[in-house]
Amino acid sequence: MTTPHFHFQGTVPYLQKATRAMPKALGYAETSGAENFRGWQTRARRKLRELMGFLPAEVSSPRSWLIEREVVEGFTREHWALESPLGDHVFLYRLVPEQAAGRVMVALHGHGTYPNDAVAGVNLGRENEAYEIEFFNYDYGAECARRGYLVYVPCQRGFNQRGGPGNSCLDINSRATLLGSNDIGLRVQDVLGLLDWIKSRPEERRLPGGGHATQFVAALDTRVEVACNQGYFAYWRDQIVDVTHCNCNYVPGLLRWFEQPDVAALICPRPLLVTTATEDTVAPIASFRRAYRALKQIYRDQGVPERLEQDTFEGHHEWSGRKVYGFFEKWLGR
Ligand SMILES: [Zn+2]
Repeated sequence: MTTPHFHFQGTVPYLQKATRAMPKALGYAETSGAENFRGWQTRARRKLRELMGFLPAEVSSPRSWLIEREVVEGFTREHWALESPLGDHVFLYRLVPEQAAGRVMVALHGHGTYPNDAVAGVNLGRENEAYEIEFFNYDYGAECARRGYLVYVPCQRGFNQRGGPGNSCLDINSRATLLGSNDIGLRVQDVLGLLDWIKSRPEERRLPGGGHATQFVAALDTRVEVACNQGYFAYWRDQIVDVTHCNCNYVPGLLRWFEQPDVAALICPRPLLVTTATEDTVAPIASFRRAYRALKQIYRDQGVPERLEQDTFEGHHEWSGRKVYGFFEKWLGR
């Protein structure tokens, strides 16, 4: 009897191969989404919502508190606390432009030490603060306020006032998955609660919405009229399967159902801008280009190719204002 040749290749290579081979059960192409697009979107949105694992809401009419107000160049920066659907507090900035134009923006931050502060243009001279703002061009919320948008900048779970020791993406996601939830799902649940609160304020009607959470929020909530996803759009298999990324990216079951262009297609026919940079390792440019072609075909199938735009630029994982301000103005008016 011959002895089989035993060898260990590792589980990760197996999972990478299996992910590539597995058809996406609710993929646009796999399920002929083009033929009944609205029906496909309804089913896909329902499944995505389920995968997000929202926890039962404990608060339906959130209370809010204005903590402080400060006038800075071009806008007034208010700091608020708002009850989240789960009953803890979302700290957020509300940037009120000198001349309100009735356009509301939700500017979501990425990772970093003071990311929501940076987006809102706060710089208190803390360690690495100036560096992060400059490195990522991180003060885009403040820039939008100076351009006349009323901008909301919430602090997401795991960061800044809601982070600290024991509250990293890994700390949160490990525990949330035990409840059938996940980190990004809880962040999205907060933002949907914020949108409800904004919509309950009569003067604040129009809602355009960085990156990861933005895409899930805009996919799930059609109240978001225009979206910009910077430094996140690519195939997940290239972005978080072939490489290990921050734990907040891992939503249980997600890749059995969708790839990223399928989720982005839930934003169609609403206008969407996606961008990445030559050296961006979060949204690698080769994968970005392939994913963009797939998504463009979906917008084309739906007769609205002009509503999807892209921009690529020399740089790293950072914000670029090169196209986004014009894109928002085009679809929302000056
Ligand atoms: Zn993370």
